[in-house]
Parts: sequence; C-alpha cells; structure tokens
Amino acid sequence: MKKKFVLTFPPESTNEPVTCRLIRDFGLDINILRAEINAGQEGKLLLEISSTKENLDKGLGYLESRMITWEPVAEKIHFHQDPCIHCGSCTAVCFSGALEMDRLTRELVFTPEKCIACGLCPSACPLRLFTLEFAV
Ligand code: SF4
Ligand code: SF4
Repeated sequence: MKKKFVLTFPPESTNEPVTCRLIRDFGLDINILRAEINAGQEGKLLLEISSTKENLDKGLGYLESRMITWEPVAEKIHFHQDPCIHCGSCTAVCFSGALEMDRLTRELVFTPEKCIACGLCPSACPLRLFTLEFAV
C-alpha cells in the first residue's frame, strides 16, 4: 500500500532521525515530498510511504511514542470560497503556500495548483469552508 502523511514534530523532536528509523527499523519505503523543519521549532514533513499495513501500523505507533502526530493526506480539497470572511486563520497551517493573504487587499488568495491536500486547513477555518475527500 502507498499513502501520504503529514507529520508534525514538537520542537524537542526536530533533531531526531525519524525517517531513518522508519526506513531502517520498520522497513518503510519513504519519499519525502516536502519538509519544513527548523531545530527547536515545530516542524512538518509530507511523506509518501509504501509498506505493508503491518509495518505501517508499527511505524505510526513509533511516531506516536515520540510525540510526533500524523495525519493521512487527502486526495482532494474543496473550498467553498464565497462565505469566506478573510480572517487568515487557514494561512497559518498551509505550509504549501496555497492559502495566503493578499497584503494589499487583505483578502485570502487560494492557489489550487499549490495545494498538496495535506488536510490541515479544514479544522483551522471557523466557518468550515474546506472539505476533504480521502483516498480509500
Ligand atoms: S489542504 Fe489546505 S492547508 Fe493543505 S496545502 Fe491544501 S490548502 Fe493548504
Ligand atoms: S479560515 Fe476560513 S474564513 Fe478564514 S480566511 Fe481561511 S477560508 Fe476564509
């Protein structure tokens, strides 16, 4: 099976060789699609993982033991844009740059081509304007 996950690292875990351990100790085949990690700060990794379900479950269990949270990546994001109040809350979680505030108009700009369907924006929007379709 092949799936994508977003990993969120607490500041104390950003120096850990997590992907090496997932590969070496759990036999996962990992493709790093995007990384945003700075030592001592919260970090994010977008990974594509190929593995058996058993090994994947063990690897995800290891992440939890290291206080690293993970979320499966959605296949598609739908944005119901008209009711948007341009509060900017969703831009704080969008590390791909698909959601940004226009500095002049102070309005939200959504660039679907940049969206990696990480699944982080739905819970960030107070109006729940994003919905996700997950892969089976
Ligand atoms: S799912 Fe949302 S937060 Fe993630 S990249 Fe797409 S627009 Fe940004
Ligand atoms: S969080 Fe929701 S309401 Fe706020 S700017 Fe983003 S889409 Fe618009």
